[in-house]
Amino acid sequence: MDILEFDSVVVGGGLSGLRTGLELSKKHNVALISKVVPIRSHSGAAQGGINAALGNHPAGKDDTPERHSFDTVKGSDYLADQDAVLFMCKEAPKIVVELESMGTPFSRFEDGKIAQRPFGGAGFPRTCYAADRTGHALLHTLYEQCVRQNVQFYNEYFLIDIIKVENQVTGIITLDLSSGNLVIFRANNVILATGGFGWIYRASTNALICTGDGVGAAFRAGVPMSDCEFVQFHPTCLHGTNILMSEGARGEGGLLYNNLNKRFMVEIAPEAQELAPRDIVARAITTEINEGRGFEEAYVHLDLRHLGREKILKRLPGIREIAIDFAGVDPIDTPIPVHAGHHYSM
Ligand SMILES: Cc1cc2nc3c(=O)[nH]c(=O)nc-3n(C[C@H](O)[C@H](O)[C@H](O)COP(=O)(O)OP(=O)(O)OC[C@H]3O[C@@H](n4cnc5c(N)ncnc54)[C@H](O)[C@@H]3O)c2cc1C
Repeated sequence: MDILEFDSVVVGGGLSGLRTGLELSKKHNVALISKVVPIRSHSGAAQGGINAALGNHPAGKDDTPERHSFDTVKGSDYLADQDAVLFMCKEAPKIVVELESMGTPFSRFEDGKIAQRPFGGAGFPRTCYAADRTGHALLHTLYEQCVRQNVQFYNEYFLIDIIKVENQVTGIITLDLSSGNLVIFRANNVILATGGFGWIYRASTNALICTGDGVGAAFRAGVPMSDCEFVQFHPTCLHGTNILMSEGARGEGGLLYNNLNKRFMVEIAPEAQELAPRDIVARAITTEINEGRGFEEAYVHLDLRHLGREKILKRLPGIREIAIDFAGVDPIDTPIPVHAGHHYSM
């Protein structure tokens, strides 16, 4: 059995693992372990964007990190850790600018500033995006930066268990999937960034790799678990495959209809309507279906037709491709069948 030694070991090659590895590599030698090649991590599925109070949108001039923070705390039904939220919202503009300077190809307004669009639960248009492939763009950018900074990648190595000696974590045991060999990584710092556990649910937007085995290894090692019950359900999964239909679609003006051709969100959330927080829209869609106002007792319609061909092709090309490939409908002339599903292990 091989034994390798590093200052730090990061398990996870998604956005959180890559960003952590990048920062640590400024001072440590870092091994980054991932059961898939990092750019295939589930972060690549994130479509809609990343929130930061940059105030670049003409309707967002008065946005501030404090307002971002207020929306986030309110969206959490006041359950979020408010200090953590404020910290995140104050850091967000710096982080987006940093990601831009690393080379992320963000979409832009005519004046060259990073483009922002409205998103659910946000009082101002503050979602920065790279078309509807934001996670993919960020993942490639961070991966390049890690390679540049000599992070040592161990791709297709599977974390099996955490090693503890006298109640102190001293490393991890992995399985090298290509050779079948067990490999031990010894390190003073072990960081788990192994993503979510979507596949404990029947309907999930997550990739099949989101099986929660990192969380499981931590649990077996006696690490205290916190907030596992905070699971987000997304309002709009594609009927049949559960693929995410990004909130960007509603951000761009997409509307939800039941089988009575009624926009039910107008009554449920008169102000925010289709852009109410996700839990509210997800519950509303499920209620419509459960009470017989869905189509085929399974879905409602997400209608983009009024946006017009040009806007759909320019702003929502990925959504259109997915709808055509996986549901056989072209949103330019047919509404998309959607229902709610597990989305995010918070
Ligand atoms: C369809 C979709 C769209 C989304 N859109 C947005 C959006 O627009 N904006 C937004 O902010 N968020 C969005 N999210 C949420 C966001 O994508 C996630 O919160 C984020 O990508 C999680 O990153 P991560 O690094 O924690 O996990 P992941 O990207 O899932 O990475 C987990 C990593 O851990 C590794 N790993 C796991 N288990 C093991 C193991 N046992 N051994 C070795 N390696 C292991 C995997 O190989 C992988 O590299 C979206 C989520 C989904 C599902």
